[in-house]
Amino acid sequence: MVDAFSALKTREEAVIMRTYGRYPLAVSRAEGSRLIDLDGRQYVDLLAGIAVCNLGHCHPEVAEVICRQARELVHVSNLFYQTEQVELAERLLSTCHCGKAFFCNSGAEANEAAIKLARRFMREVRGREAFEIITLAGSFHGRTLATLTATGQDKIKHGFAPLPEGFKTVAWGDLDAVRAAVTEVTAGVLIEIVQGEGGVNPLPVDYVRGLADLCREKGILFMVDEIQTGMCRTGKFWAFQHCGVTPDMFTCAKALANGLPMGALFATDEVAAGFVPGSHATTFGGGALLSAAAAKVVEIMRRDRLDERARRVGDYAMGLFTDLKRTFPDKIAAVRGLGLMIGIELTFPGQAVWRALLDRGFVLNLTQDKVLRLLPPLTIPREDLARFASALGMVLGEL
Ligand SMILES: *Cc1c(COP(=O)(O)O)cnc(C)c1O
Repeated sequence: MVDAFSALKTREEAVIMRTYGRYPLAVSRAEGSRLIDLDGRQYVDLLAGIAVCNLGHCHPEVAEVICRQARELVHVSNLFYQTEQVELAERLLSTCHCGKAFFCNSGAEANEAAIKLARRFMREVRGREAFEIITLAGSFHGRTLATLTATGQDKIKHGFAPLPEGFKTVAWGDLDAVRAAVTEVTAGVLIEIVQGEGGVNPLPVDYVRGLADLCREKGILFMVDEIQTGMCRTGKFWAFQHCGVTPDMFTCAKALANGLPMGALFATDEVAAGFVPGSHATTFGGGALLSAAAAKVVEIMRRDRLDERARRVGDYAMGLFTDLKRTFPDKIAAVRGLGLMIGIELTFPGQAVWRALLDRGFVLNLTQDKVLRLLPPLTIPREDLARFASALGMVLGEL
């Protein structure tokens, strides 16, 4: 008798392209911070679909909106005016300094739009032949040809040459390196305030401020990738708001519609003028169903002050993990993060620890080989984090 999981695994291997290193787990249902597998076993979810289900899984109010909207209007195309899309844009823009939004379907597409807007703005509005985007080592910006080229990790680019021109990567956290890299063809600098995939690396506030100043001084665009850090994850609605800076544009995706595929690019009115009708488009972007769901997500985040909760509960979790680091100074190299975006860096490859935690019922991600990455729902009960911390203590103690 093959169990349900093994049977599914065999079927998948026959029909799905092998692009993913899957976890040995198939989820059949999820609720709040719980995942339930094919056999009915429960797991504490400390990953939230990789910072996607920030409100927790299957949030009842969002589910309600999705069901209602599915009966009313799902899609007509961007040839039409759509109330839902305008309402979503108004809500999102009220959380920041930007004046205009463009909606798409994923993070990579949002960054593509940002790169296109940067080039077009420089050419058509500023009248300058400036197209190059500078990014940082260790960054992650997506998997399309342009965004993987922007990404500062070689393993993501392997096998995909020739790559598009117009990108340059410089050392992380080194302002002089950016200064030295800017030339007359530079259009902008794109950063993550906290690198996610790169191992949960928060940039120092002084660096971010310095970079914003440098971009102003050089007349180039200051661009922030908030795809993982946005939507209250780090303790502010947008992570750049920790630094008192106002990027010319920023991108968002993962948590925008709490699990439905949606991305967005935001820009100041001045920079948004780089696009005119016909210069950029996407079929599904900002459709009625997605927009209605995302508008509800934004409403709930603001009503329930999930930015503040992420900060408070994040501080609580950081306290727990810092205590663990004191207990296991030879096993935990660093605990870092912002809000509920937390990395626990081990002093050794973490596969066995990750697996032991999964066996104990805790789902999280291992990134850069040694970093346990936690991106729980922002609604996660503190007890779940306390239980996880004691399970991690047990696992590390047994090593
Ligand atoms: C996930 C992610 C992306 C890519 O988003 P997709 O929706 O997978 O295309 C880009 N940038 C950052 C910072 C991300 O975390």
